Amino acid sequence: MDPDHTDKPDHTVRADHDERPGRADRTGYRDATRVVHAGEPAPTPGTPFLPGPVLAAPYHLAADGPTGADAYGRADNPTVRALERAIGELEGGEVVAFASGMAAITGLLLATLESGDTVLLPSDGYFKVREFADTVLAGRGVAVHTVPTPGPYRLAEHSPRLVLLETPANPVLAVCDIAAVAASARDLGAVLAVDNTTATPLGQRPLALGADVVVASGTKALTGHSDLVLGYVATADTELAGQLRGWRSMTGAICGPFEAWLAHRSLATLELRLGRQETNAAAVVEFLSGRPEVTGLRWPGLDPLARRQLARMPGVVTFELADEAAATAFLRATTLIANATSFGGLHTSADRRAQFGDPVPAGLIRLSVGCEDPADLIDDLRAGLAAG
Ligand SMILES: *Cc1c(COP(=O)(O)O)cnc(C)c1O
Repeated sequence: MDPDHTDKPDHTVRADHDERPGRADRTGYRDATRVVHAGEPAPTPGTPFLPGPVLAAPYHLAADGPTGADAYGRADNPTVRALERAIGELEGGEVVAFASGMAAITGLLLATLESGDTVLLPSDGYFKVREFADTVLAGRGVAVHTVPTPGPYRLAEHSPRLVLLETPANPVLAVCDIAAVAASARDLGAVLAVDNTTATPLGQRPLALGADVVVASGTKALTGHSDLVLGYVATADTELAGQLRGWRSMTGAICGPFEAWLAHRSLATLELRLGRQETNAAAVVEFLSGRPEVTGLRWPGLDPLARRQLARMPGVVTFELADEAAATAFLRATTLIANATSFGGLHTSADRRAQFGDPVPAGLIRLSVGCEDPADLIDDLRAGLAAG
């Protein structure tokens, strides 16, 4: 059998019995209800609420040629499609799931940008995206410009083919007005992509605010259990979604079915987790704002634009201690708060960002507030600050 043939990505919508959505349209429900039921198949007697992962590389083929059913696991998978339906219900677009947030972002950039194009990226956003642009994209003749997340966005000066926003930006939590940038991108015919990792689709829906594409890591708050790496692209542009499916199949950037299933299972508690993280972050911010060791305290909940644009505040807080030594002493002295990178999980964690090359002060700590009891977190923060 010709491998090109068995591999071929199939973009037709399947009508498999197992994959019928439970309701054609769950958008009328409120957020907590939507995440519990997102992407679930129709209730069929004798079947589970969320079917288990389908672990398959090749599938049986019909003897007389392609039927549109799955043929090979690098192209597609029913468990991945169920997760894509779930995230698609929340973002309001067609979703293509990837093996990581970076696989999704680099897939979008490589599949859409050509030599001679210009791309605008945040100067204060996820550091690996800038590294990728400065090395791989610049090396392929794409002009890379960076803009601080708050702007100003003078798009006409650069005539970009693609603008990537990250709001709130990671790690300094700067924000920008998505609808305003979307309006000027539309005037110039530029594609606007928004990294929605920090907010999650329950925090904001960039497609509804006028963005063309959402990219995100599913590794962080979306799934929130610190046990998987995953990413996705969401768009209302079915041609772009098809192009990205083709890209994913060629480059082998699909997520594994077990990760997709774990992610789908975790998604059901997104509203619960975000609610707890927001409450805990508010308590932590109140405590930190009264401490003399702490400067530069940032949380989207303190920012008027973020309060207008986001329905829920993320649990991510950043603050500065005097210097690297104070930050290191803080991380060593906390016992409940894990010294770990990443954010958005059940477990509260903190890391010193400068060590990863973020252009931030040496004493800057990013604190990801989890779902523990806030009084225990504050006790641990107090012990950490006392050691600095
Ligand atoms: C973590 C992160 C990414 C990359 O996601 P991975 O799943 O780690 O590849 C991209 N953007 C933002 C804002 C992130 O925080």
